[in-house]
Amino acid sequence: MTRFGSIEAGGTKFVLAIGDENFKILEAEQIPTTTPAETIARTVDYFKSHPVDALAIGSFGPIDINQDSLTYGYVTTTPKSGWANTDLLGKIQSALQIPVAFTTDVNSSAFGESIVTGKDCLVYFTIGTGIGGGALQNGQFIGGVSHAEMGHQLIKRHAADLDFPGVCPFHGDCLEGVAAGPSLEARTGIRGEDLPLDHEVWDIQAYYIAQAAVNATLTHAPGRIILGGGVMAQEHMMARVRKQFVDLLSGYVQMPCSIEDYLVRPAVSNNGSATIGNFALAAQKLL
Ligand code: ZN
Repeated sequence: MTRFGSIEAGGTKFVLAIGDENFKILEAEQIPTTTPAETIARTVDYFKSHPVDALAIGSFGPIDINQDSLTYGYVTTTPKSGWANTDLLGKIQSALQIPVAFTTDVNSSAFGESIVTGKDCLVYFTIGTGIGGGALQNGQFIGGVSHAEMGHQLIKRHAADLDFPGVCPFHGDCLEGVAAGPSLEARTGIRGEDLPLDHEVWDIQAYYIAQAAVNATLTHAPGRIILGGGVMAQEHMMARVRKQFVDLLSGYVQMPCSIEDYLVRPAVSNNGSATIGNFALAAQKLL
């Protein structure tokens, strides 16, 4: 039986999983993201004791996905302490000696959603501690010399939010700076999960997320936009974002389907899209 491995390399944890030919999870384990040396060593140990035929890494970034680059497979300019310029792919591949695919965490999620739904033109956003986006056009990842950085796109500010400078260390009030989870607490002093549902900050946040969806619609013409991540796991947010999306787009583009089928939460529960995407990317390495 062919077995595939998945590494979801996140800033706080690495999720390791083994899957079968049908991309069903056979085993999984989480390890905390500590130093690169320790985290990579534990990852390698796991796959040495749970051998697979190929695996894929969906990583936090920015990462180098240009196969012609000298630093292909590296985590590059991340502000995460100790991780800048880390050869993530090379260390794992040389230790395990199997084919390893390498892409962004959101690309892995986008690919997993495509595998599960059969849709090959889609955009996947994750909205949590940070914001990232990945897109598939006719089954292929978008990207030129590098991967997209949709989380740091510039958006227009909400009239009731002009005094908030944003929390992105690079741009201040880019999308991530004003709409990721930490921006809620930075504005209100209250953690997102403790904020009452009638707090005005939810509609402010939804306004920004809706703009990201409008921008994705106008620039990629996807068949579906998926909103994953911790912030969107809250029931009320989807309705707020859909309403503001419709208002902002103002009927300019004909939707390919109803808004409820266009702006959706992930088809795979518990943010599991990336694992399935990684199994499928690993399978492609064996073709
Ligand atoms: Zn930014």
